[in-house]
Amino acid sequence: MYIRLAYSKESETISFAASELKYYLSKITNSIVFVNDSTAHHPSTITLELFPDSQKHSDTDDEYHIEISKGTGHIYGSNSRSVLLGIYKYLTLLGCRFLRPGKDYEYIPKLSSIEEFDISCHEKAENKYRGVCIEGADCPENIFEFIDWLPKLGFNTFFLQFELPYAFLNLWYIHKNNPMLPAEDFSLEKAAEISLLIDEELQKRSLEHHRVGHGWTCSVLNQNTLGWVVTDNTLDESQLPLTALVNGKRGFFGGIPINTNLCYSNPDVVERFAAKAVSYAEKHPEVDYLHIWLADEANNHCECENCRKFIPTDLYVRILNRIDTLLTEKELKTKIVFLIYEELLWAPQTERLANPDRFVMMFAPISRTFMKSYNIPKELPAPPPYVRNKITLPVNLEENLSFLNQWQKVFEGECFDYDYPLGRAHYGDMGYVHISKIIYDDIKCLKELHLDGYISCQELRAFLPNGLPNYVMGKCLFGTTQTFEELAEEYFTAAYGEDWKTYYKYLSQVSELCNCDYFNGKGSRKNETVQENMLKLKEVLLNFKEIRKNSSDSPKSDVNEIFCKHLDYHNEYCILLANALYYLSGGEQENTQKAWKDFHDFICSHELDFQKALDVYRVIEVSTKYTGFPVIGG
Ligand SMILES: [Zn+2]
Repeated sequence: MYIRLAYSKESETISFAASELKYYLSKITNSIVFVNDSTAHHPSTITLELFPDSQKHSDTDDEYHIEISKGTGHIYGSNSRSVLLGIYKYLTLLGCRFLRPGKDYEYIPKLSSIEEFDISCHEKAENKYRGVCIEGADCPENIFEFIDWLPKLGFNTFFLQFELPYAFLNLWYIHKNNPMLPAEDFSLEKAAEISLLIDEELQKRSLEHHRVGHGWTCSVLNQNTLGWVVTDNTLDESQLPLTALVNGKRGFFGGIPINTNLCYSNPDVVERFAAKAVSYAEKHPEVDYLHIWLADEANNHCECENCRKFIPTDLYVRILNRIDTLLTEKELKTKIVFLIYEELLWAPQTERLANPDRFVMMFAPISRTFMKSYNIPKELPAPPPYVRNKITLPVNLEENLSFLNQWQKVFEGECFDYDYPLGRAHYGDMGYVHISKIIYDDIKCLKELHLDGYISCQELRAFLPNGLPNYVMGKCLFGTTQTFEELAEEYFTAAYGEDWKTYYKYLSQVSELCNCDYFNGKGSRKNETVQENMLKLKEVLLNFKEIRKNSSDSPKSDVNEIFCKHLDYHNEYCILLANALYYLSGGEQENTQKAWKDFHDFICSHELDFQKALDVYRVIEVSTKYTGFPVIGG
């Protein structure tokens, strides 16, 4: 059949949507010939455009309508991104499954034609904020493929931390934590070049661009924000008074600029901070949401006489208001995202945000448990009183929510959850079924918590054994009536083919025996239950190895083949890791050391074979910083 795609070439994103539709339809069936004009061959026409009655649809809320039968019809969107989301939904309805970033990991059905499909579908996103934030060690291809994947699952947002994503790229290029790969050259200039390419990829898809976060405090001190690294730089006499006075001393906190707070009661600090932020916003109109956060880490706030008169949050709100005033003066529309995290979990006592429309509140319960999902108690406990530089972070969800609740009483603007299931916790759930279920349940709670979405702060290489967690996340954030089991079945059938049930059962068993919180460093390192479970887990893993050996040699599709190959690698990975956890939780130091080294050497030597699935830097970082495994090679 002949098909013509009709669309306006004015929108880069709609043009891109058309090229994507053409690419995938050509893969689905070889019965289509695409033509450019309507005169020859009397082609069927698929039109991609904005809703004709645009006033009925908000252009900031994603909504699409698909009406295609016998290869003819239209896909309307409330904005150009929604047209792109609409074509991916259409392809999904035809049977495509976007299982992981990268074209090798997509399941594309083979159909004789698309004529017999009558598709009618209208959807509106349930959450305004649906995104992922970069973490871990990433090569440029990891970032580009992830961005490409986002709208295929219904996401609309990508958050690139810092002014430049130098830290994440650099961790990859120097192969931090992998002594088996020689370091490659990398520079700030190269990071800037890659950053521009990332901007283009975001632009092409009209994704909401979030940027910066930590780092403003460095920029006030004229330090580059290279990530969480110790500096050799020293501060001069004029800069020292700008930094926080902690334990009687001003200067870099622990030698690390990004963890160094400033003396926020100092009017000079407020002006310099606001000027840096506004100048950035002015130079970067491509940034839709500018994140204004203070230094990272806790218990590093200024103890000077003037700062002591206020809790850190009140001083933070003053800076935010100053930034808003300056942005308004310059008629800049950039949204400011502020963070409630660590000392800023305590709601302001005296100050209020003067222009709530400018701001979006980001709730970041970094210390939460991942053994349980949010459950909302009828009555929340009162948050503990703030004690300067002596805070401990809340672990249980009720306590985390009590902070959110206090903030919501003083700020009525938009708010989203910034969450960490795939930041650290996922390494503790080797089956990925448990963490996917937590994600599903958490997202279903967002409305009740008066949150307008969710951004996942995560490794971009979190696909061992598979991409179920992000798949569930994207689908749920956009909105789905599918149950968790239905989503899992959809994913597993596409990834593993006819044996999917065996694999799902296996990974569910693996998950049941794992403990995310233990891996995250919560609780005593000696833990009998963990030890018993690791013994059981080893049995499950060895049993599965036998199943795989005896599994039928019936030919599999390329995508099933590649997912099964990951499953076999994952099986080895889990055996070695379960062994190391067995000794660690049993308190057997010498054996722990040896078992951990076996695991360490195994993943380091195979990093390039499974580069896109496992972030070796990060799993080693978490294992040594939180879980309690020894650092190898210093
Ligand atoms: Zn101070």
